[in-house]
Amino acid sequence: MTGESGALSTVPAGVWHEPRLRQPGSREPAPGELALVQSFINSHYDLEFEHGADLFASTAALARWLERRGLLGGAADSLSQRDVRRALAVREGLRALAKGNAAGLGLAGLNEAAAGAAIEVRFSPSGPSCVPGGRNPIDRALAIVLAVAARAMIDGSWFRLKICPGEDCGWAFYDHSRNQSGRWCSMAVCGGRAKARAHYRRRRDVSG
Ligand SMILES: [Zn+2]
Repeated sequence: MTGESGALSTVPAGVWHEPRLRQPGSREPAPGELALVQSFINSHYDLEFEHGADLFASTAALARWLERRGLLGGAADSLSQRDVRRALAVREGLRALAKGNAAGLGLAGLNEAAAGAAIEVRFSPSGPSCVPGGRNPIDRALAIVLAVAARAMIDGSWFRLKICPGEDCGWAFYDHSRNQSGRWCSMAVCGGRAKARAHYRRRRDVSG
């Protein structure tokens, strides 16, 4: 898959595929491979089937999510509770990074969960690419997510992936705007709610 800037893909095409998922506020998903990382972070809130359900709530749920993207290689039964905890640590660590609080909670957990999720480098006439090197399925799946995230941090596209500050939201949206001014996952949902709360507070302060 080719990125925005015509950059090479991190992981060879065909290793996984990201379904096109609904986004709040009819935003476009992140371009190219980064859509995988975006969906991974947004797995805390199912917008498609069971509104609000955590898509990593159990080994079976995590297996379904990974399988849907071709990231599990048919090894759905192999996942353990520990694998779920690792996936959650990676998810919340990436959310903390995207929020820009690198010192925040989650990074120690992210690095611990990343241990063993190995990436190997391969070369071809079209350039280098990464392939997962771990032996067990969760190591391989997490390696792909982490490699794509790391690559996006290097090429800069990561910094358009923002976390909505809405109360109980935390949705990762991709800010396609020219001046990168996007703040909410959706102006109609979180932006509107924040505005209503501020309005209510102002009225209350004035009246009492
Ligand atoms: Zn939001």
